[in-house]
Amino acid sequence: MQETDVRRREVRNLIGGAWEERNGGETEPVYDPATGQVIAETPLSTREDVDRAVTKAKEAFPGWAGTPVGERARILFRFKMLLEDHFEELRDLVTLENGKDARDAGGEVRRGIEVVEFACGMPTLMMGESVRDVARGIDNISYRFPLGVVAAITPFNFPCMVPLWTLPVAIGAGNTYILKPSERTPLSAQRLGELLTEAGMPDGVFNIVNGAREAVDSILEHPGIEAVSFVGSKPVAEHVYKHGAAHGKRVQALAGAKNSMIVMPDAVLDKAVPNIVSSSYGNAGERCLAGSVLVAVGDVADDLVEKVKEAASAMKVGPGKEEGSELTPVIRDSHREKVKSYIDTGEEEGAEVVLDGREPPLEEGFFMGPTLLDNVTGDMRVGREEIFGPVLSVVRVANLDEAIEFTNGSPFGNACSIFTENGAAVRHWRENIEAGMLGVNIGVAAPMAFFPFNGIKDSFYGDLHATGKDGVRFFTENKVEAVRYFSEPGVTAAVQRPIESGA
Ligand code: NAD
Repeated sequence: MQETDVRRREVRNLIGGAWEERNGGETEPVYDPATGQVIAETPLSTREDVDRAVTKAKEAFPGWAGTPVGERARILFRFKMLLEDHFEELRDLVTLENGKDARDAGGEVRRGIEVVEFACGMPTLMMGESVRDVARGIDNISYRFPLGVVAAITPFNFPCMVPLWTLPVAIGAGNTYILKPSERTPLSAQRLGELLTEAGMPDGVFNIVNGAREAVDSILEHPGIEAVSFVGSKPVAEHVYKHGAAHGKRVQALAGAKNSMIVMPDAVLDKAVPNIVSSSYGNAGERCLAGSVLVAVGDVADDLVEKVKEAASAMKVGPGKEEGSELTPVIRDSHREKVKSYIDTGEEEGAEVVLDGREPPLEEGFFMGPTLLDNVTGDMRVGREEIFGPVLSVVRVANLDEAIEFTNGSPFGNACSIFTENGAAVRHWRENIEAGMLGVNIGVAAPMAFFPFNGIKDSFYGDLHATGKDGVRFFTENKVEAVRYFSEPGVTAAVQRPIESGA
């Protein structure tokens, strides 16, 4: 296909209800990872753009915070119905800009919709608490209030779901919201903005400021923004957390990962292996919950490596939009080079390359084959660093305690899975493992929308996680009221009088 055949999409900022024309500033190309073609240009917004968005979001805040929570939830209901009506379109948009296959893209849209469903319960989620008679005639009541203008900065790997982790909750709770999507995948966020507008969201409640580093730093430094939710890589998460906090903001920053999948000798391998392969190589390994290290316990190792090798090499490499594609492209050519250099390093460090995906299996696009590295150890970079590509490293250990020790040696603590039928082993592992999302015979341990997305250690900076009740707490603050009335007996008499008179 010639470059001229590709329909370029317009990417615009949404500020105060207006889709702004591009002002001729700098842009960054958006690629279809399956073809390598440029499909759009993301405007790289400046400090002034962020400031304009904050001004509009601030103007919209009193009206939105003063809208009854049931009315706010009704708009979210309409949004949810529009997401259902446009499900396939959103799924295909995710495939176009991210590259993942239809099953993964559909899964991502579904998980995002589930957060909207959760947020539709905001009248209940916003409830405070009360205790009557904390002292004679005095009651304590807590009320939840929105914070004001809040912002979210999101990554390329879930362009539809990650914005939906926070926007329905933040907006449902009465905040006004600025989204800074990944400059590499801005299209899904833009469609969400259009659908929110169609659902009846008042101008200025939901805003999009596209861009990269300058937009992010302007958000972190802007005095008009109260809270920032970030999802992305560890170095940027750490910067966002520290810089945002230094500017007085509440920050949650969800970061990178290096997830172990521990396979015990009693694991049901025929069921476990497809799970392991899909966790490691699905979405080209570009998931924060991807299994990246396979920790083989005892004598399961040879059989396990053989079976994983067989299943991985049988994966169909192809574009996400083609039915049957299992191994889809990585996001950019530069990222493919980075993943390849990790494999080179692994080999130099002494890992055995059992399957080598370095040679591009297709001419167009940013494809890689599956890579399986055996005899990896904790002192190798491939055993410890996030690669974020279709590379699985096998670490061989003698027993469960060694598997736990290896896993806990990671600075990250996003997820860990164990494959076994032994309940005692599961309990021992759960009690001792340092990871915030656990899977038992499940390779991708994603919590549902009503639970927190729960990374720990270097996989998370902050206190309250995204999604679930944590998300509601993150985007609200309490006022706790102690109340008494001096004229109470008189009021009671006044209220009773009409009843006695039969009125
Ligand atoms: P990234 O850190 O490169 O980008 C994330 C966001 O930060 C983007 O919006 C980007 O524009 C911005 N950004 C990038 N560099 C910046 C800089 N120097 N200064 C300020 N802002 C900057 O992450 P990515 O490559 O888009 O996403 C992949 C990463 O996200 C992986 O590390 C993955 O593990 C992580 N992730 C984590 C979770 C989780 O829940 N813990 C979920 C999804 C993705």
